[in-house]
Amino acid sequence: MVPREISLFLASLFLLPFAVQAQEHNTSKPKARVIMVGVNGMELDIIRPLILKGEMPNLSRVIESGAYGKLRTVSGPNCPRVYSTLFTSTKPEEHGVTGFLVGGITANTHMLKEEPIWSMLSKSGITVGMANVPATFPVMPVNGYMISGMLTRGKNCEDGVLCAPKLSEVTGGDAVYPRSMREELLKNVGDFYIDCERMPSAADLKGHEAEVINNWLGKVQTIRDQQTKLFDYLLTSHPTNFTFLAQSCEDRTGHWLYPITPFNVGYNASINSVRQDAFPNQYVAFDKVLGTILKHADENTYVVIVSDHGIKPLREFEEKDPHAHADHEKTTPVIAKHDFADGDDVPGSVFIMGPGIKHDFRLMGLEASVYDIAPTLLHIYGIEQPKQMRGRILSEVFVGHENKVAAKN
Ligand SMILES: [Zn+2]
Repeated sequence: MVPREISLFLASLFLLPFAVQAQEHNTSKPKARVIMVGVNGMELDIIRPLILKGEMPNLSRVIESGAYGKLRTVSGPNCPRVYSTLFTSTKPEEHGVTGFLVGGITANTHMLKEEPIWSMLSKSGITVGMANVPATFPVMPVNGYMISGMLTRGKNCEDGVLCAPKLSEVTGGDAVYPRSMREELLKNVGDFYIDCERMPSAADLKGHEAEVINNWLGKVQTIRDQQTKLFDYLLTSHPTNFTFLAQSCEDRTGHWLYPITPFNVGYNASINSVRQDAFPNQYVAFDKVLGTILKHADENTYVVIVSDHGIKPLREFEEKDPHAHADHEKTTPVIAKHDFADGDDVPGSVFIMGPGIKHDFRLMGLEASVYDIAPTLLHIYGIEQPKQMRGRILSEVFVGHENKVAAKN
């Protein structure tokens, strides 16, 4: 079933050239430019020491030039559930994408019951470009392009299980809108992995732990290199007013290679002592991706970095749950997770810089939430917040607004 608003948008696509033309005549003010970067499960506990050590110079630059803080997430936060909340500023029960599986079927965009931000922006004549954003498969028509991300289905993908198809291996729907762009990407970027590699199983690891871990991390870096090339290509050849790019390897690595100690639940020396640097290194590598993205941002560009949740080592109460130490397919040993019943255990984070955004400004507490991202984006474009949205504009990050819930760093 397609919600009414989305049907209307599909219908309006045919009229789009006329709508865009009309806008050009009516307004002389240039549209805001926003580059949003989603980092899956970015954990502040891990990145803070890296910032102190100077190992994330690009993120440090965003912090110094902008505002940042924790981002309250939803209960039981998993990626499709939180991202769909981020897209719509509505509760999971309202937008319909409540988890990896909904009614036994892998979460997909046909399930979205509330209008997502990309549709609202497109209808207002804003050009939209998106790549590798979780829970955007099959892709939907936008006033620009969309390349799907995590939960894209392909060769050998089982329902509700993470899987990493290449662009050429996608099945069950389109991974690229418009369709004509698929060939262009294959030619200019190559046959890239759409999502990060899934984790190895306990059976694969047994007796070959160090080798399997090192090979897996090598593949992760290959995927990140491909994503960097893709993002650079899109920002160069297809610039849009609103661009939303996402990374997922950080979260995947954290689940089973979080640097825990023998006192943590689930510690297994043969796995967890092999590469204590693996998880922090993901953020150092992310910072390089961010550096490539920032080359495309001038002083008039808003840069918004958002993490849907954090990730923490398993807790003492996990001992009672027989599945707690395994991932979605119940085979990979995990030692950290984020879908705790209390979402406040694993807040995400937000970093924003751009015209009119305060500098070196820290949001305190958990007053900013994943519900607030879409209203704040609409505010930047001067679009009124629709009634169904539950979030608020993060007005305290803009110069000239009271510091109700924030304090100068
Ligand atoms: Zn996530």
